[in-house]
Amino acid sequence: MSPKTRISQPAAHVSSLRGVGSERATQLARLELFTVGDLLLHRPRRYEDRRHFLAIKELQPGVAATTRGNIVALGLKRYRVGQKSVFEIILDDGTARLHCRWWNLPFMEKYFAAGDDVFVFGKPKSLKPRTIDHPETEVIEGDEESSIHINCIAPIYPLTEGVPQRWLRSLIWRMLAECEAHIVEPHPEISLAGFPTRANAIHRLHFPQAMSDVEIARRRLALDEFIELQLAIQTRRKKLQANARGLPCGGDNRLIKPFLAQLGFQLTTAQTKVLRELRKDMAAGVQPMRRLLQGDVGSGKTVVAACCALMTLESGFDVTLMAPTEILAEQHFQNFRRWFEPLGVRVELQTGGRKTAVDGRKRLPLSTPNPPPSTLFVGTHALIESGFTIEKLGLVIIDEQHKFGVTQREQLVRKGRYPHLLVMTATPIPRTLGLTLYGDLDVSVIDELPPDRGQIKTFVRAADKLPKVWAFIREKLAEGRQAYVVYPRVEDSGQLGVKAVTQEWERLQKELSPYTVGLVHGRLNANDKEHVMTDFRAGKTKVLLATSVIEVGVDVPNATVMLIESAEQFGLAQLHQLRGRIGRGAHDSWCILVAAARTEDAKQRLRVLEETTDGFRIAEADLKLRGPGELLGQQQSGMPGLRFGDLAEDRELIEHARSLVAGRFNQLQNFA
Ligand code: ADP
Ligand code: MG
Repeated sequence: MSPKTRISQPAAHVSSLRGVGSERATQLARLELFTVGDLLLHRPRRYEDRRHFLAIKELQPGVAATTRGNIVALGLKRYRVGQKSVFEIILDDGTARLHCRWWNLPFMEKYFAAGDDVFVFGKPKSLKPRTIDHPETEVIEGDEESSIHINCIAPIYPLTEGVPQRWLRSLIWRMLAECEAHIVEPHPEISLAGFPTRANAIHRLHFPQAMSDVEIARRRLALDEFIELQLAIQTRRKKLQANARGLPCGGDNRLIKPFLAQLGFQLTTAQTKVLRELRKDMAAGVQPMRRLLQGDVGSGKTVVAACCALMTLESGFDVTLMAPTEILAEQHFQNFRRWFEPLGVRVELQTGGRKTAVDGRKRLPLSTPNPPPSTLFVGTHALIESGFTIEKLGLVIIDEQHKFGVTQREQLVRKGRYPHLLVMTATPIPRTLGLTLYGDLDVSVIDELPPDRGQIKTFVRAADKLPKVWAFIREKLAEGRQAYVVYPRVEDSGQLGVKAVTQEWERLQKELSPYTVGLVHGRLNANDKEHVMTDFRAGKTKVLLATSVIEVGVDVPNATVMLIESAEQFGLAQLHQLRGRIGRGAHDSWCILVAAARTEDAKQRLRVLEETTDGFRIAEADLKLRGPGELLGQQQSGMPGLRFGDLAEDRELIEHARSLVAGRFNQLQNFA
């Protein structure tokens, strides 16, 4: 193979490029640039319009700008016995002089010489004399490639030590000259009307003619990323459809009927509608259900899950119900035992801390010992890690999905032979994530709260208002209500964190005496946690001081006050979850967000919660402010890295990609 054909392959190693020896290759590797393809997609971190730059005289203090001048003086000063240094160059462009300084980087000296023509980008810190500290600079050399460095819009790349901006730009320019004609459309069968070709987009990304080219290029490259994502999602779905038969889990109503009769309330219209959708999936026996059940906090997802579990149990299959925390698993275990044991259904708990089957808990007398009755297993992620297997698993329910990663979801489902999957979340999934991260799930929504719920009022308060807040809480306790006080997480900071929350607990006991205060945090063992929760549920303790371990699922209708300390440390979606712990009964509820930091940013962010209880608006705001990782929880994995696409902003591109890919699958089907 001639070197030239090698270079035109995106997979070719960078060292096959002219001018890239082993030292340069090592440097590029530090930027994760290994192949020609990586270089092609190396995204400039900004662009500098070097056709329209400011004269030195026009520079404004504090305003970042590009300017240009000749070096009229330069020098390195060392002080403190040579330990510290400042290197300075003085530029002149005929209108004024500019001082550029670098502190403690003595090697900068070797990059400049008197008379050099230099581009400078930075924020002047003063005008007397005009000074920029640590600017970005580029010496202009009058070689044959100068047209890509000056009098143009120049790309400014992320760099690593030892790689000059100018060298990298030249490298990419030369490589593009050779490769551009060989850049192929990744999916020529998908027509991308209205977008430039991929080759053209890559060219514009690096060497735009106008600033508007940059966004045009980004959109095309983002679209390609979303198309890949949709192909992966839709292919996975087709495979499932082709290979897997759903188990017949529609049931015969023999358990559901008595269950609903003793529940004490009517299902809402939304719950009934959703249940109908789920039953259709589970009964059909065509393909296993893969469904996301979305419903705001308190909308009553648990009862719906219970009905699905009963359908499966009626059909002779086992069910697992997974929760993200031990507290929530324990709560579900107690609820479901209360609901199901009178129906003769066995309920077992499997968490890291507790296993009912193992610790010798008395099993129920079984009404029909043969065939063995079906079981509901309630657990945490320990269910996955234990190597625990279930022979006749018919349905997997995952509660509060945003705490589980995609990989975990897959692992769990693989415990059985294509069981049905119901994923429940109270975090409203913004549409962009619904189409990507959850793209392989159908969606049902409970869009109505049970009737007769009290209102929740939300206030953001500065820490100095706490005395008033305590008085208010005492008033509510005197009326017989209960309260949560949430303290930022202690789990991360180990013993220190536990000490801090324990001190807070002592303070709170004094503050609110004679009312009793319980303390729960992630470092307590399972039995202790359960004791604290039982006391609070029973009203024995009036106030619960908790870390965000109580965030999901906990259901104590008499608790009507939620005070969150250092609220600025939480994400909005997480605060919305926490707030969902109140407003569960008929009484009005109050959520008080105490912001320690008085920065405008933090307060502005929290205002969203004052203004709305609409989980969707909150999730969208959070996605914009903090990105998908935060919204979905730390463990959330399985989302491919997007270089050009933006999950918060690119909804329209994501939808476009989805319909393009769906269209292609339909075409294939017509041919088949
Ligand atoms: P979430 O959707 O947040 O998981 P839960 O399932 O915990 O909500 O339900 C919240 C509360 O509402 C529970 O106390 C539950 O018993 C109650 N609930 C559920 N459905 C109804 C209904 N249709 N009518 C009245 N109360 C209901
Ligand atoms: Mg719940």
